[in-house]
Amino acid sequence: MVATHLATDEARVAELTEQLLTEHPPSSTPPEAFLGARFDLGLAWVHFAEGDGGLGLPPRLQDVVGRRLRAAKAPTGATRNPIGYGMGAPTVEAHGSEAQRRRYLRPLFTGEEVWCQLFSEPGAGSDVAGLATRAVRDGDEWVVNGQKVWTTLAHMARWGMLVARTDPEAPKHRGLTYFVIDMHQPGVEVRPLRQMTGEAEFNEVYFTDARVPDRERLGAVGEGWHVALTTLMNERVSIGSGLASRSAGPIVEAIELWREHRAGDASPEAAMLRDRLVQLWARSEVARLTNLRAAANRKVGTPGPEGSIGKLALAELNKDVYDLCMDLIGLEGTLYGSYAMVRPERAGGFENPDIRKSFLRARANSIEGGTSEVMRNILGERVLGLPGEPRGDKDLPWSQVPRN
Ligand SMILES: Cc1cc2nc3c(=O)[nH]c(=O)nc-3n(C[C@H](O)[C@H](O)[C@H](O)COP(=O)(O)OP(=O)(O)OC[C@H]3O[C@@H](n4cnc5c(N)ncnc54)[C@H](O)[C@@H]3O)c2cc1C
Repeated sequence: MVATHLATDEARVAELTEQLLTEHPPSSTPPEAFLGARFDLGLAWVHFAEGDGGLGLPPRLQDVVGRRLRAAKAPTGATRNPIGYGMGAPTVEAHGSEAQRRRYLRPLFTGEEVWCQLFSEPGAGSDVAGLATRAVRDGDEWVVNGQKVWTTLAHMARWGMLVARTDPEAPKHRGLTYFVIDMHQPGVEVRPLRQMTGEAEFNEVYFTDARVPDRERLGAVGEGWHVALTTLMNERVSIGSGLASRSAGPIVEAIELWREHRAGDASPEAAMLRDRLVQLWARSEVARLTNLRAAANRKVGTPGPEGSIGKLALAELNKDVYDLCMDLIGLEGTLYGSYAMVRPERAGGFENPDIRKSFLRARANSIEGGTSEVMRNILGERVLGLPGEPRGDKDLPWSQVPRN
């Protein structure tokens, strides 16, 4: 019975996708209009509710849309708005009121409004619940003061997902509230932070008496940590769930470099490099299949702590693959074009691709979206059920927790 339903649903999704392509041919439709039409047909995120860019169907049917649209070379907004797609949309869908879902989701999907994530602070990264940015109620608004850091694409963003402290006397996880803040207001200052690639894809963000209307709060006052977990778990999946295809990803770049630089080389050094290449290919394949299985098992759109498996595996794998790439090209690896500061419009080092840049950018994979050490803690405690770390500050009022 369930299987029959799925088959009917699949046929419906396939039919709507064909309708989209017939009525809005990607080759002659402006990307924004194509994405708007896709949203209106419920093909943005099929597991979202009708009216929110979805059809209320199981998330696995999204693949039916994705495969067909990739084959038709249809535009995607995900590269322009990765944080909106990966984290903003699922958080708004899970916690937003109807008015908020109507307001935010469509322009997020079409790329008209880019989103950023305002969680990390100079004194709160891994321990993000310890954050200090304050929001104080003033009538129908909140007044925000503080500093965020490492904010990817804040320079492009219209909206920011902000977690702020609204009750310093509550224990740290309980005194937080989640807002969607307008980044285009006088109280918000965005300053570039340059990475070792030379690019400044992230920023420092300063709030000086910035204002957020209470209607732009997501979830209840004091429930910000609960809402933030939805963002964080989706972040891990969105970073860690790449590699759907065997013909893409860093390992394919490594194989190409092997062919270009080392094929036919009978030296012992080449044999060792080939051995590493084959081991990394096997690890890439395991990561790919694990992600496919996780996606197939996911019954609802909001992932759980097991999303950290893919994030951890992919971060470590990417770094090892790009290490190998540098060894394959030898001294050429030192010839990086320029470290001059560039302000990219896309995150992830994808602009002006270069294998040396990918190597440098991959260092961030085990930090962004939570470090590999923190992923191991989550998997140990929340998936394997091992004893937790001692946390002396968990029940103390935040105002009494020592800080530097
Ligand atoms: C490219 C990039 C993009 C980013 N984009 C964003 C963004 O858009 N928005 C945003 O809010 N943040 C963003 N971040 C920030 C990122 O989430 C933090 O850097 C990360 O959570 C780590 O925090 P931290 O840098 O403060 O390091 P810290 O938390 O100070 O950690 C320092 C070291 O201590 C280790 N450590 C800390 N706690 C533990 C523990 N309990 N057990 C074991 N080891 C521990 C860490 O693993 C790390 O090695 C980005 C980071 C990068 C690199």
